[in-house]
Amino acid sequence: MSFKFPIYLDYHSTTPVDPRVYEVMKPYFCEEFGNPASGSHVFGWKAEEVVKQARQKVAHLIGVRDPKEIIWTSGTTESINLALRGASISYREKGQHIISCVTEHKAALETLKYLETQGFKVTYLPVDSYGVVDPEDVRKNITDKTILISFMAANNEIGTLHPISEIGKIAKEKEVLFHVDAAQACGKIPMDVEKMGIDLLSASAHKVYGPKGIGILYKRERSPYVSLSPLFFGGGHEKGLRPGTLAVPLIVGMGEAFKIAGQEMEEEKVRIITLREKLYHGLKNGLEDIELNGHPQKRLPGNLNVSFSGIKASDLISHVRDVALSSGSACASGSLEPSYVLKALGFSDERARSSIRFGLGRFTTEEEIDCVIEKVVEAVQKLRHF
Ligand SMILES: *Cc1c(COP(=O)(O)O)cnc(C)c1O
Repeated sequence: MSFKFPIYLDYHSTTPVDPRVYEVMKPYFCEEFGNPASGSHVFGWKAEEVVKQARQKVAHLIGVRDPKEIIWTSGTTESINLALRGASISYREKGQHIISCVTEHKAALETLKYLETQGFKVTYLPVDSYGVVDPEDVRKNITDKTILISFMAANNEIGTLHPISEIGKIAKEKEVLFHVDAAQACGKIPMDVEKMGIDLLSASAHKVYGPKGIGILYKRERSPYVSLSPLFFGGGHEKGLRPGTLAVPLIVGMGEAFKIAGQEMEEEKVRIITLREKLYHGLKNGLEDIELNGHPQKRLPGNLNVSFSGIKASDLISHVRDVALSSGSACASGSLEPSYVLKALGFSDERARSSIRFGLGRFTTEEEIDCVIEKVVEAVQKLRHF
């Protein structure tokens, strides 16, 4: 057997740091520890240079022409807060209407809920039974008071991809700012802020084999210039939008992780889809009454979400302790409430509660998938029998 237990199949909640990324980060803890804002000596200059290079690597993966449009943050949650709250404060005079979607991540939904308490009106568009929003619905809901549209590129539970380019086109036509939560999409599917008409984009390193605690917000500087109000105040770093000393080792890691993702995305996608299909067919062959959740094609390569009728996901998870699985998002998996994402697809509480998310990634092997099929089939049969 060429793998160790437990098997990790929860790549949507986080990923291990790629050893190649870790190697590149190492010198920036003890040796090259300078502060990029120290302009008076070589320690600072060196740090400033590597931060600049990391900015270029991140910019390259998402089609950003000017790396200066990349703002370092602590991760997608902070980036979403800066984008949505920052834009709301800046454009409040223009209008107070925002369009988003019912299946967004809590980082967006909770921020929007806060903005509602501040007088903003939010339209949460519904999705179809695959979790896809209709771009025409976006168009129909835009008014002269709409200042911002915010959608995730890829859903973290069901892997469904939204029609980001189509929404971007409508946003451009109507001259409304477009923010995209690309935490799950970056490095997995092609993202291009120019081609997709994106004005603001949030992402984290740790979903793409980089370190936790670092992320970016892309903010468009030209056609149109996006104005944001900062959430923090301090020493003027990142053009005053996100002050505080830069986390150089993490930034270097994010740059390397995004560089590798860009180089290997196409190959990795094919390999991971093959494993995912093997897993799905293995489960289907071994079991009756299982259903795929999310879109059959328009989905993240590493995502398989399946409901096992007659089974509670929580029981299944505790019966296959050797496999790290989740019933939904990491943030909500402790809760007994059925997933709001699955409910939004029109599923009953029962189907939502019987759903498991399998997250495959860079280090998933065929042997692991064979083993998971065997263990899950056996556990479901046992649970259905009793
Ligand atoms: C993980 C995730 C986030 C939050 O990212 P953090 O790194 O935890 O801040 C936001 N949106 C989506 C879609 C995610 O998958």
